[in-house]
Amino acid sequence: MREESALIHAGTNRTPGEPVVAPPGLTSIFSSLGEPGNELTYGRSGNPTWVVLEQALGALEQADAVAFGSGQAASMALMLALARGKERLVLPHDGYYNARQLADRLRPHGAEASMVDLQDLAAVERELSRGPAVLWAETPTNPLLRVADLAALGQLAAAADAPMVVDNTVATGALQRPLELGAVASLCSLTKAASGHADLVMGAVLTRDPDLLGELRTWRTIGGGIAGPMESWLAVRGLKTLPLRIERQSATALAIASYLVTHPRVSAVHYPGTTEATLPLARAQMPRGFGPMLSFELSGSGAEADAVVAAARLIVPATSFGGVESTWERRARWPGESAPESLIRLSAGLEPVEDLIADLEQSLA
Ligand code: PLP
Repeated sequence: MREESALIHAGTNRTPGEPVVAPPGLTSIFSSLGEPGNELTYGRSGNPTWVVLEQALGALEQADAVAFGSGQAASMALMLALARGKERLVLPHDGYYNARQLADRLRPHGAEASMVDLQDLAAVERELSRGPAVLWAETPTNPLLRVADLAALGQLAAAADAPMVVDNTVATGALQRPLELGAVASLCSLTKAASGHADLVMGAVLTRDPDLLGELRTWRTIGGGIAGPMESWLAVRGLKTLPLRIERQSATALAIASYLVTHPRVSAVHYPGTTEATLPLARAQMPRGFGPMLSFELSGSGAEADAVVAAARLIVPATSFGGVESTWERRARWPGESAPESLIRLSAGLEPVEDLIADLEQSLA
C-alpha cells in the first residue's frame, strides 16, 4: 500500500453497520475502573480522534506522530524534550521567527540559542563543535524559502552526536521526508498546508525514536498543549487531500514565481523552484513539488508593498499559508520578523493560476 492510501484510510471502519468515517471523539472522560492501563481515561492524555490523526500523519512519514494544540506547542515540547542537558540550540537565522523567540526563552532554563545560516555547512559544524547541541533545521525556510541540504546537515549532526530536528511545515511530509535524511524528529504545523483549509490551529511531531516519542507524549500530557477532538477531526479530513492539494499548489506557486521573476516591479523572487543556486538540491530533496509558498521583494518601499497587498481582489490579505485560498502579506509588518521591508509572502491556493496571475498583474499595476 502506498502512503496516500494509508493516509486516506486511517480510521476507516469496514465493520457492517458502523460509520465508515470515524466521528470526532467529543468527550473529556472515558469509562474506566481500577488501576489505569493503556486504555483511554482522560482527554488530556488521550482521545480516539488523536489516534486516527496520528495514524494518518504517521502513514506519510512512516513514523509515530504526536499531535499538539499548535505548531508552537509541538516545538516547545520538542525543545524541552531534547534540550535537557544540551548547552545549545542551533537554529537557522532566517527560519520561522517564533522558533527563535521560543529558543531564546529557554536560555534561563539552561539552553543557549545560537543562529546560523544552514547553507553554510562550515558554520553549522563550528556551532555544533562548541558543546552538546540540538540542531534545529528548517527547509524551505519561512519566509525566504531557502533550501538547506538535509542529508549533509544530518551527517554533521550525527558526527557531533547532536539530534537533528527539521521543521517540515512548508513542504510537509507529502513533499519532503526529513526522517530519511538523518532527522530524529520532523515537526509540522498542521495549521498550514497539512490540514489545508485555514480553519484550525494544530501541530505535530513525527519520530521513529521510541524514547523521544514517550517524552513527547509525557510533555503533552503534563504540559497540556493538546488539540481538541473537533480540530483533530478536521485535521484528519484535511490531511486526506494533502498530497493532491500540495502538488497542485506547488505547480501554481512555480508558475507565479516564474511570472514574478520577469516582472519589472519585482527585484527578487524567493522560491525553491526558481532559485538556480539550490535548484538541483531542491529537486532531489522535494521531488514532487517545491511547496505552496513563495516570497518576493518589490523594488519600492514597505508602504508600496502594503498598497500592492491591499489592491488584490482575489488573493486574501492574511497571514499563515497552505490553505485552499491564496493569501499574502508584507512579512515585515510583524515585530520580531527579520524579512526585508518590501518582502511579500504569498501562499498559492487552489484557484486557477490564470485568475491569480491576473490578480497579481492588476495589484502590481
Ligand atoms: N513552523 C513554521 C515554519 C511556521 O510557519 C509556523 C507558523 O507560522 C509554525 C512552525 C508554528 O505553527 P503554529 O502557528 O501552528 O503554532
